[in-house]
Amino acid sequence: MANIEIAKGDRGMAAVDAAAIDALKSQLQGKLLQPGDGGYDEARTIWNDMIDRRPAIIASCANAADVQRAVSFAAAHGLLLAVRGGGHNIAGNAVCDGGLMIDLSPMKAVKVDPKSQRASAEGGVTLGDFDQGTQAHGLATPLGINSTTGIAGLTLGGGFGWLSRKFGMTVDNLVSADVVTADGKSVRASATENEDLFWGIRGGGGNFGVVTSFEFQLHPVGPEVLCGPIVFPAEQAKTVMRKYREYTATMPDEMTVWALLRKAPPLPFLPEEVHGKDVVVLAACYAGAVAEGERLVAPLRGFGDAYGEHIGPAPYVGFQAAFDPLLTPGARNYWKSHNLMKLSDELLDIVIDFAAKVPSPHCDVFLAQMGGQISRMAPDATAYHHRDANFVLNVHGRWETPDGDEKGTAWARALFNAAAPHATGGVYVNFMTQEEGDRVAAAYGPNHKRMVQLKKKFGPTNLFRLNQNVDPAG
Ligand code: FAD
Repeated sequence: MANIEIAKGDRGMAAVDAAAIDALKSQLQGKLLQPGDGGYDEARTIWNDMIDRRPAIIASCANAADVQRAVSFAAAHGLLLAVRGGGHNIAGNAVCDGGLMIDLSPMKAVKVDPKSQRASAEGGVTLGDFDQGTQAHGLATPLGINSTTGIAGLTLGGGFGWLSRKFGMTVDNLVSADVVTADGKSVRASATENEDLFWGIRGGGGNFGVVTSFEFQLHPVGPEVLCGPIVFPAEQAKTVMRKYREYTATMPDEMTVWALLRKAPPLPFLPEEVHGKDVVVLAACYAGAVAEGERLVAPLRGFGDAYGEHIGPAPYVGFQAAFDPLLTPGARNYWKSHNLMKLSDELLDIVIDFAAKVPSPHCDVFLAQMGGQISRMAPDATAYHHRDANFVLNVHGRWETPDGDEKGTAWARALFNAAAPHATGGVYVNFMTQEEGDRVAAAYGPNHKRMVQLKKKFGPTNLFRLNQNVDPAG
């Protein structure tokens, strides 16, 4: 039987016996896909349309045993290995050219135990799947703001959203995880088992193994919360953003308000003539009693003459999907991100200035409010380090066709560069593009050294290299 050429992890090609691939195929409960097979293109297509890669083989895994077999196969042949959870990561490391891709998307089980207020989720679960399961019991854990994001990549990088100021980062709510390590073994990581690995996977991305199942602590949330957006004309942005700065400095942990500068989408509560105009959107969520949320949100209405608002009690699970229409898959996306301690006048002016010259109507600049419980954890308690950032600035370059690539990336980079003197130098690893490998050490700060040691222990050959990579060679 002929050999099949598959990309190796450390460059070059491996000639893999076709019989060995057939043997792997017969061992999997899921599918082994090759170019031309039904499902192959679906599995390799990820959220960011700028990424178009073709693995030689895709192990579409049905369970942890499949993952173990695929990892062992990749390790035995020295193959280039990519791991896909929800396929949302902007850098596109979920998929590789010519290597082996492990696709976890068929692994979608969510189990909720309302009594212990814990839930487990397999590696292919999306935020929407998880929130649906837990909110059926009036429970939730802090996750991100777009329901099609994968729970795996989000958690492994740290994870934050509307509930994080109250309950911490997603990793702060991780109780345990089942991890397939580079030797193909499946181990449990928790506060009492493989504690070093547990430290590393709470922020260290996919560097240390493939997580097949996550166990989370849940909290009573909703099912209705006070939430929604209020939209101001861009002409009032200077005043609105300065008031936003004052307001966010005084809010309790339950209240989270993010700011978004962009062209107005065709939201039903906005007059038609506003659609497409430059606006500032403040989006609020109060993770507590609705009446108290109503009281605390009232000052937002005095920030300017709003075009419109849609703030009120609504199902938490619905708000978790509220931004989905702006974040659909299939567009070309290029992001740049900074951590910020404060919103200085200069920084706000830069943001407002660049938001007025977006190269496509789909671009936006957002400021996520951090702090609260996130910042009460010690920076070395988990691999996720930047507990002191009060805001995350994300420049979302987004457009429809390849002819927008040059202008779109140039705009995002220019804003990023202009904002750099006002930023901490730290960055959230989940918002980094692929070309930003030189920022990995900055993303982990002083924790980076410990991560290198951990990588030496759990992945000395750097089998898990397609991520924001911690090189075991330091
Ligand atoms: P994937 O691309 O599948 O995975 C990302 C990487 O994680 C992979 O390359 C791999 O290295 C690793 N990986 C994935 N699954 C596993 C696994 N089971 N075991 C080991 N390694 C694995 N982040 C937030 O914190 N808050 C937000 O509100 C937020 N909003 C977002 C909105 C959008 C539209 C997008 C695109 C991203 C957002 N993010 C947010 C960032 C998000 O957390 C990252 O993109 C994250 O990596 C997505 O996880 P995924 O499983 O979908 O991605």
